[in-house]
Amino acid sequence: MPQSALSPNGLPRDEVLAQLAEMRRRERDLDWRSGKVLAYTFDAGPELEEVVKSAYSMYLTENLLDPTAFPSLRRMEGEVVRAVADLLRGDEAVVGNYTAGGTESILLAVKTARDWARANRPEIRSPKMILPRTAHCAFHKAAWYLGVEAVFAPFDPRTFRADVAAIERLIDADTILLVGSAPEFAFGVVDPIAEIAALAKDRGILCHVDGCMGGLMLSVMRRAGRSDLPDFDFSVPGVTSISVDLHKYGYAAKGASTVLYRNKDLRRHQIFASAKATSYALVNNGVLSSRSGGPVAAAWAAMKFLGEEGYRAIHEEVVEATRRAIAATDAIPELRVLGRPDMCLFAFASDALNVFQVADAMHRRGWHLQPQFSTEGSPSNVHVTMDLAAARIVDRFAEDLRGAVEEVRREPKIDPAVVRAQVAKLLAAAGDAGIAQLAASGGLSGTALPENMAMVNTIMDAMPDEIVERLLGDFMNDLFA
Ligand SMILES: *Cc1c(COP(=O)(O)O)cnc(C)c1O
Repeated sequence: MPQSALSPNGLPRDEVLAQLAEMRRRERDLDWRSGKVLAYTFDAGPELEEVVKSAYSMYLTENLLDPTAFPSLRRMEGEVVRAVADLLRGDEAVVGNYTAGGTESILLAVKTARDWARANRPEIRSPKMILPRTAHCAFHKAAWYLGVEAVFAPFDPRTFRADVAAIERLIDADTILLVGSAPEFAFGVVDPIAEIAALAKDRGILCHVDGCMGGLMLSVMRRAGRSDLPDFDFSVPGVTSISVDLHKYGYAAKGASTVLYRNKDLRRHQIFASAKATSYALVNNGVLSSRSGGPVAAAWAAMKFLGEEGYRAIHEEVVEATRRAIAATDAIPELRVLGRPDMCLFAFASDALNVFQVADAMHRRGWHLQPQFSTEGSPSNVHVTMDLAAARIVDRFAEDLRGAVEEVRREPKIDPAVVRAQVAKLLAAAGDAGIAQLAASGGLSGTALPENMAMVNTIMDAMPDEIVERLLGDFMNDLFA
């Protein structure tokens, strides 16, 4: 027999599980249990984790493919969606579905808008949606996949909220969808949803609110008495669909989001059916067909276990910790928090230091923060997503951030202006060869990540978006070769 990567014989259960645990250690995965991972993971402690895991395993093998085969899953999906709809002040007409994540929810909302326009505005040949520059990149993926053109709208460089007047100017006869976020990811601020939705209503077009991050949390906070939060839900006239993730601030297992529509007529455009193949006739609400029932059961269980009061207590603790983290960040002379975050996501920039060096210094202290590149209207910055585990050690965050800045003050500065000039020169002189050279000089060649991420980030920040996209695509292609 020729060689195969699949081992010829099976291993004992304990050996297999031991190998997994060993791999996680050896490959140095982020340790989310430490509370220091301010991205990717949402940890509300071992008690909830236990509930979520048990529910997930109970439904591991059940398939969401056919809602008539496992009716208990359809019931769970219905109950989860209804709970979200009620939080979003949706009336009885509001409908929705479970999806595998925010990206799927957004893909479906854009597909629904496209197909709604095909049915109701057949004169439109090249549909467009207007995206504030702060809208999540999932909308760009949707544009790319679905053939809807993404038109960028600027944001207010002081508040980081979408510029409504600019959106209004960009609307034309081909516009099918306006988008706002509650909140957008980068700076954690809620867009002026009421004004954006009013524009959409006025023009007879659709308006999607991306509540992937905030849909649950902001609603619970509002119901608990926070009166300063802007309206973003179905109480706002003109809002036609909303995406709400459960696997973020619902603290459910990954693979759980919802997309909701103002009514069934609208949602009808989301559904795909096909009787053309020799196999079974297919009908799907979502993008995927076969899916584990695990994430739905886990989301249902998390919501049942915590209830509104459980969520309120968690969110209040996280918001209070965020307030303290922001105050501590602003108290460091070299750093400033961007805008006035509405929830528990924030970003900080620096005029004096290279902020990516601060992220590296935090990394050496065990913290994982997210670098964000500069755009028209926003400086290079570093993003923080707080969860309950992080909230519980917020004083250490503050202390370590002071220590990190202290350390970076003494390091040689990677000067963004100098890097920018070098990048521009190299790109102009050497074209494609220059790009390869640039990637190599930052250590971004091959598949091993360099130690000095600040250098890589500063170089990438200096490159045009299209080149960064190409390099990242090549990197990914090599990573899985
Ligand atoms: C996370 C996020 C998304 C995309 O969600 P995934 O679950 O990662 O697919 C969309 N919008 C916002 C604002 C987000 O934070």
